[in-house]
Amino acid sequence: MSEIRNELLWESGKRKIDWVRNNMPLLRYIEADFSENKPFAGKKIALSIHLEAKTAYLCKVLAAGGAEMYITGSNPLSTQDDVAAALVHDGLEVFAWHGATPEEYHRHTKMVIEAGPNVIIDDGGDLVNLIHTEYPEKLKDVIGGCEETTTGIIRLIAMNHAKELKFPMVLVNNAKCKYLFDNRYGTGQSVWDGINRTTNLIVAGKNVVVAGYGWCGKGVAMRAKGLGANVIVTEIDPVKAIEAVMDGFKVMKMVDAAKIGDFFVTVTGCRDVIDINSFYNMKDGAILCNAGHFDVEVDVKTLREIAVEVKEAKNNIMGYKLRNGNTLYVIAEGRLVNLAAGDGHPAEIMDMSFAIQALSALYIVENEGKFDDNVVYVPESVDAKVAELKLKFWGFEIDKLTEEQDKYLNSWSV
Ligand code: NAD
Ligand code: SAH
Repeated sequence: MSEIRNELLWESGKRKIDWVRNNMPLLRYIEADFSENKPFAGKKIALSIHLEAKTAYLCKVLAAGGAEMYITGSNPLSTQDDVAAALVHDGLEVFAWHGATPEEYHRHTKMVIEAGPNVIIDDGGDLVNLIHTEYPEKLKDVIGGCEETTTGIIRLIAMNHAKELKFPMVLVNNAKCKYLFDNRYGTGQSVWDGINRTTNLIVAGKNVVVAGYGWCGKGVAMRAKGLGANVIVTEIDPVKAIEAVMDGFKVMKMVDAAKIGDFFVTVTGCRDVIDINSFYNMKDGAILCNAGHFDVEVDVKTLREIAVEVKEAKNNIMGYKLRNGNTLYVIAEGRLVNLAAGDGHPAEIMDMSFAIQALSALYIVENEGKFDDNVVYVPESVDAKVAELKLKFWGFEIDKLTEEQDKYLNSWSV
């Protein structure tokens, strides 16, 4: 039995899902194929991804392929109750609500594992971790699964190295058609969407500090520049730091950037990137947020402890007044700003990421028992198919090598 906030909200959720479906041609193509061939007939899929409209449509596509779906959200603040209601209205099982307490979130995650899934679709490793630690008896039913994000993949690789990962997991994030677009352009756009709609402040002329110049950080910095900001990057990797310099950004230590930043965005996957060493350096009114996996990149816990006053300044923005008289503002409790203060990546981006998800789930089921290693890369053919179809649906054409050109490019003699 589903556990959601209010089933009556389904109509607004359905409108949201219909809107994104119209903008997700790859998933529509896959849905048509799955509806005909039912590759997941008799299979239970447990899914934990931000429960908003694009994820809901992915769930519907998998259900069209015959899967019995057990769905939860990967973050209590990104779950949209009307979207959850629309899925339940369509007969899917959902266990999630917006603003779940840590206990409620854990209970919901447990409920999808208790269903006894054959396939696990995870975003950050919560389901994989739970089944291995609290439900070892359920491991035997799992054929395998897929992981959506960078941090989840780091954990899977560590688990596999320690020989603790008990079933194959496809590294969806590491497909080119995922990280090159989702992490860079998706995060680049949706982070600013979340910040702008929540703060309603000007970005042009401000100092924006981006912590981490990986795929996500590049996108966030690029779009900040486009909005007219002066962009400062902080890094721990010298190569990434040089890239940032050559892309035209200032690079410095966080404690120094802290003194001049107006907006701070962390996207590292690390912890305590902005901490007590920086808080007292910051200007009055500085705005802090995070777009990396977890809510520990900005050390909000310590900020709360050292604050002399904590007050909600605006919906989803908390003000922390320090003893030096300055107030620092944190958006969405330091959770992913693009999802906890927005609708996440645009539909066209998630169309690619979720096409990779759907085809990777298919790959797992079709190759049951055939994997030598439990860390599985997305086959190049899947990446190529997604790229080709995306171009076609977007109405772009590219050149094809002639036989002569192909020979020329592949020969060692001139
Ligand atoms: P990445 O590995 O490409 O980049 C991370 C960068 O952070 C690296 O360059 C690393 O050197 C740097 N870094 C690490 N610790 C640091 C520190 N203490 N200070 C400064 N820099 C530091 O990873 P990515 O794909 O860009 O993902 C980053 C995080 O964002 C991950 O946690 C990932 O799961 C998450 N993510 C979020 C979204 C979203 O929608 N918000 C989308 C994709 C990924
Ligand atoms: N468990 C983490 C989740 C990591 S979020 C948490 O604490 O919130 C990072 C992932 O969110 C990215 O890899 C991206 O693919 C995904 N994402 C971004 N926008 C999304 C959207 N609109 N719908 C669903 N997932 C989204």
